[in-house]
Amino acid sequence: MILPLNQWLAIGNETLIIAGPCSAESEEQLIQTAVELAKIPSVKIFRTGIWKPRTRPDGFEGIGKIGLEWLQKVKEKTGLLTTVEVATPYHIEECLHHGIDVLWIGARTVGNPFSMQEIAEALKGIDIPIMIKNPLNPDLKLWLGAIERINQIGIKKIAAIHRGFYTYNSKPYRNAPLWEIPIELKRILPDLPIISDPSHIAGNRNLLASIAQKALDLEMQGLMIEVHPYPEKALTDANQQITPQAFLNLLSTLIFRKERGNVDFENKLQRLRSMIDSADDELIQILAKRMDLVYQIGEYKKENDITILQIKRWNEIICMRLSKAKELGLSIDFIKKLLEILHEESIQIQTDILNKGLKKLK
Ligand code: PEP
Ligand code: MN
Repeated sequence: MILPLNQWLAIGNETLIIAGPCSAESEEQLIQTAVELAKIPSVKIFRTGIWKPRTRPDGFEGIGKIGLEWLQKVKEKTGLLTTVEVATPYHIEECLHHGIDVLWIGARTVGNPFSMQEIAEALKGIDIPIMIKNPLNPDLKLWLGAIERINQIGIKKIAAIHRGFYTYNSKPYRNAPLWEIPIELKRILPDLPIISDPSHIAGNRNLLASIAQKALDLEMQGLMIEVHPYPEKALTDANQQITPQAFLNLLSTLIFRKERGNVDFENKLQRLRSMIDSADDELIQILAKRMDLVYQIGEYKKENDITILQIKRWNEIICMRLSKAKELGLSIDFIKKLLEILHEESIQIQTDILNKGLKKLK
């Protein structure tokens, strides 16, 4: 069982806002950032990295344990809750010792089941909320597995953090959002709160607002954003951090939409949704009709020893359908993708008829 967010945090139905620097660099930097952030009522949790997983050994590997003492001061001074990334049982022990309120597990650690198991063992019997980032690679099962390991040892206060995925070409993002993955996670675990981390998806300041807005529109329940008093001087992730003032501006541009409307709204939505249902039904019937014709053509070509792929015909189809799509105001890209999928399936069916003597089932 996973508890809804508002059962372990006093936020009612509001979006959870987490902010703070990528890394703790000095006591002054932490206090200065936290004091500014605490002036924004929606900010509930102050984040920072104390131990930093770096790609190469000469990078800044985090300030270490002393940073936890600075975080205690942040908490005393501002009343903000605190959260830190943990990757080993030692990190967990130190965080608990220093009264850190929420722990998060980073993308690199989540991708390693050995580490996840070790962390889960170290958390046995401890009642502390855990946030689990998605693993670096776009593997929903790995993310789910990490969540299950933490849940299985009895922790019910769990949130997932969507920070984007490493893909061969993730431009313009640092990490491709692949929104379908967190959406599928939500479908499988409807109670699990998902927090969006636009900073690590974007990798640069300019894309933060559009990613944050999209996350809100997809009903993500929180935002975690990196804030630093002097972003360009930050020791880690300098390109994606923003000043407290820029963060305040960003929040003010976001539209926090409601999940539900009044009765009239809900009724109209219901009507529109049932129209979508019947349109989809018609679409499936038309696809069945089209594929039936493909079978007939396949059989006919086989009987007459004619090749399957006929480029001239395919080009004609593309041209005619795209000009029709344009006339109807449909996106050319979308219709082109759709036609390619249809064409691929048609070729497959005709190949199977030729090679395996495939017969239509019905
Ligand atoms: C971070 O939040 O600073 C961090 C290191 O994130 P991730 O694990 O998503 O790379
Ligand atoms: Mn970072």
